[in-house]
Amino acid sequence: MRTVYVNGVYTSEDQAQISIFDRGFLFGDAVYEVTAVMNGMLVDFEAHMDRLERSMAELDMVRGFERPALLTIHKTLIKNNNLQEGLVYLQVTRGAADRDFDFSEMDAAPGLVLFTQAKALDANPLAARGQKIILADDLRWGRSDIKTVQLLYASLMKTRAKRQGADDVWLCRDGKITEGSSNNAYIVTHRNEIITRELSTDILHGITRASVLRLAELHQLKIIERAFSVEELRNAKEAFSTSASGFVNPVVNVDGAVIGDGQPGHIASALRSSYVAASEAAAV
Ligand code: PMP
Repeated sequence: MRTVYVNGVYTSEDQAQISIFDRGFLFGDAVYEVTAVMNGMLVDFEAHMDRLERSMAELDMVRGFERPALLTIHKTLIKNNNLQEGLVYLQVTRGAADRDFDFSEMDAAPGLVLFTQAKALDANPLAARGQKIILADDLRWGRSDIKTVQLLYASLMKTRAKRQGADDVWLCRDGKITEGSSNNAYIVTHRNEIITRELSTDILHGITRASVLRLAELHQLKIIERAFSVEELRNAKEAFSTSASGFVNPVVNVDGAVIGDGQPGHIASALRSSYVAASEAAAV
């Protein structure tokens, strides 16, 4: 049984309680972060906390948490749960109050929940065999840059993908890819250029995206930040996705058609290796 953290208390997962009036539960009024753990250490912790603060500010969540206290909670859960490899999930909600669309008068303390999840990150089978993806319209709300817990559309589409025998879904708006259900999306052209959508309100500003683009630059790869079309994806030499929980994962098949030679691409594989090495070296 895991130890989890709920609103100031460390408790066993079967004893944890939150209010039914919590706005995260009633309105999806909550933001979250998922930080990878390698060798019992946190990958890109500061960047995840920077994005958490940004998400909260964008939603007018004014009462935040001290970063050293958040680091202590992360570390305590990793230690108590003896987590070597996996994830720490953190969620901040606007708090609990009588149900009301208007939160301007609300003065409840924000809610804070953290838990760990063990997962083999380095030995992900998708890295070796490559992902099959399907495409779907991006019908999410217009602020996909805010990491809210409103994940229903992504969850529906991911489930559709699994039911069709695929691994994931990439979302499209106006014929261009925005991002994956829970990852950022990339293609590699036959000239070895990496193309990924530019940062905007259309996509989550991935922490792994920033790290991987930095590494790609170190490898002297050309990076173009712009939207790419479904046709460019179909004709790409390689495709891959990035996320804190998946690292870098090649895409080898889109809607039943192979990408490149149908095998994980060299650039995706090289970026995955250097991301793992760099993350292990810099983890806290
Ligand atoms: N896009 C979406 C929609 C996501 O949910 C995620 C992962 N939470 C990402 C991109 C990747 O972000 P990160 O690299 O920070 O995990």
